[in-house]
This record gives sequence, structure tokens and C-alpha cells, in this order.
Amino acid sequence: MKLLAVSDLHFSLGQFDWLVQEAPRYDAVIIAGDLLDIAGHLDLDSQIVVVAKYLRTLGSRTRLLVCSGNHDGDERDAHQEYNARWLHRVRAEGLAVDGAGLDLGPLHVSVCPWWDGPASRAALHEFLRRERPADGRPWLWVHHAPPDGLGVSWTGTKHAGDASLVALIEELRPAYVFSGHIHNSPFRSGGAWAARCGTTWAFNAGRQLGSPPACIVFDPAGPSARWISQAGTEDLDLAAAPAAG
Ligand SMILES: [Zn+2]
Repeated sequence: MKLLAVSDLHFSLGQFDWLVQEAPRYDAVIIAGDLLDIAGHLDLDSQIVVVAKYLRTLGSRTRLLVCSGNHDGDERDAHQEYNARWLHRVRAEGLAVDGAGLDLGPLHVSVCPWWDGPASRAALHEFLRRERPADGRPWLWVHHAPPDGLGVSWTGTKHAGDASLVALIEELRPAYVFSGHIHNSPFRSGGAWAARCGTTWAFNAGRQLGSPPACIVFDPAGPSARWISQAGTEDLDLAAAPAAG
């Protein structure tokens, strides 16, 4: 079984085109947030129309797992916190979005919405506590922000990840967390595309311009991961590396 993970496409249509072309080669594709670009020259509603069409195409070619990022909110909820309402409208067979939990081969996968404030953060934590697989199978989270304090959240000058996620990882101990958000982490000295948080592996493929996007090919049977980017290709045997801490 092979999964392809990307994030932070930020309305790069060349990168979406590449994903459509590559998707059939994988059992699942993960897009870990920031599909849209709030600083883009095209308004958000128009971006949503285009990206929703890409997601439907991708979902017809492989199983697709998509979480929202901080660029993807299109509606404020009762607590005045943003959420990606539009993503729920494209949810379909083979297309799992924010709030989905599913068994995928040997894994259980939980797709986490971006939390925009205390209410959505509390809801996310409740969701993950409910999602914990009772049968002990390896658990994978798709969560836009990376855990704080690790190479995958390093900007080059500071860590800018999610501290509450670290506490949640320590409590619930997922096997894998696929994130993005900090675009430069894998490309900076002191940064990383993969890092350990206790027994958990955290990943951030990073963002590069042009096509293809930086990506991670993940095989849960190894388990192993390969990072492919403009900086080269790196392989990691996830079973061989020692646990952190
Ligand atoms: Zn981003």
C-alpha cells in the first residue's frame, strides 16, 4: 500500500494537475490543508469552484483525504471562528474531508479540521478522543499545522507549530501525523520533513513553487517514507529510527 502526501498547494493549478496525473498510482492521496490562497489574485469563491472540481476528479481516481488549513475557511461559525464549509459540500464516496474517520488498509485515519479558536480546538480534541482506534491499529492524523518544537515546525528562525497538538499527541499517541503549514521546514538548516514526537512520526513535505509539489510517499507496511522535492530525494526507514525523548 502506498500513500502520497502533499500540502499547501495554495491554488497552484500546475500542482493540482500533477496530482490528478499521479493519483491512480497510489492507494490514497493526502492533501494536508491550504488548498486555497487567501492572498491570491483570484477571489476565494472562484478558487473554491476550481479546487472543488479538482477534488472531485482526484476522488474519482483514488481515495482522497483532505483537511482544511488556515487559508481554507470560507464561513464563520456561531463562535466567530472560521471553518471550511465548502469542503463538506465536496465530501463524497472516496473523498474524506474534515471530521472524517476511516479504516484504510492497516491504518485508521482521522482527518482534522483547522482550528481557528478555542471552540473549534475543543471540538477537534473531542473528535480525536472519539476516534482512537479500539483495535490498536496504527493511527494516522491529517492535520494542517505540525506539532510545535520539532524540525517539521522550524521556519529557519523559530518553531511555529501547534503546541496543543503536541499535548494531544502525547495523550493519544497516533503513529503518524501528516501536516504542512510551515512551508520552509524541510528546506532550512535545523528543519526536517520527518521528525519524531515520542513514538509518533510527524511529517511536513514543505512547499515549493512550480510543478511538481514537494511530496512524501508513505508505505505503512515498511513502514517507510520517501521525501521528493527540488532539494532531492531522501528515504527513511521508520522502523529503524529510535523513538525520541
Ligand atoms: Zn500554507
